[in-house]
Amino acid sequence: MERLQKVIAHAGVASRRKAEQLIVDGKVKVNGKVVTELGTKVSQNDDVEVNGVPIDKEEPVYYLLYKPRGVISSVKDDKGRKVVTDYLPEVKERIFPIGRLDYDTSGVLLLTNDGDFANQLMHPSHEVDKVYIVKTKGIPSSDHIKKLKKGISHEGEYLKAVHAKVMSTDRQKNTAIVQVILHEGKNRQVRRMFDALGFPVDKLKRERYGMIDLHGMNAGDYRSLKPHEVKQLR
Ligand code: URA
Repeated sequence: MERLQKVIAHAGVASRRKAEQLIVDGKVKVNGKVVTELGTKVSQNDDVEVNGVPIDKEEPVYYLLYKPRGVISSVKDDKGRKVVTDYLPEVKERIFPIGRLDYDTSGVLLLTNDGDFANQLMHPSHEVDKVYIVKTKGIPSSDHIKKLKKGISHEGEYLKAVHAKVMSTDRQKNTAIVQVILHEGKNRQVRRMFDALGFPVDKLKRERYGMIDLHGMNAGDYRSLKPHEVKQLR
């Protein structure tokens, strides 16, 4: 038996808080009857409807995809471009990406059908290391690296890296490889931070998300997360 709001959140219908509001507002039925009590517990055998629509009671599943470049972090695209779920054709559950990587960014992307888990990970208070490898046009100085760590104001947002360091440079080609660790996941954050410093990003890869890395994988590969990996991320 699980709490009704948790079951609704798990189904990816709403965050847990929104699920609570839906219950209080009388939008949720269990076995055909409106339930407004937040403590209500339901089992797999109970039929739950939100706004008249039955929710799916799929088992929660968790995957890691090595997202290639040139793919949209979405489950469908109006223009028929490749989307990340095209890489997990055997998965029958209705999974969706947890956050997004830009079209041209490759690397660690987590997918799940567990809305509650996704909401937890994307909440600003959830401080998990997201490690990026950035190839820049131009070579940032130690002052630039300090600015990344101090934080940069950009279009009304404060963007900050918890860690940054130049890994290697190519003076002839005038490029550098920089490792950046973020806790935040603001829209196009790495690209915006480097743009603000005057170093356009040539290539961007997310190498690690918490403890999850791409060890032994090629672009386009996917695997299930192990139960202990899911537990660690929560
Ligand atoms: N930062 C970006 O700029 N792009 C991504 O895809 C991820 C982080």
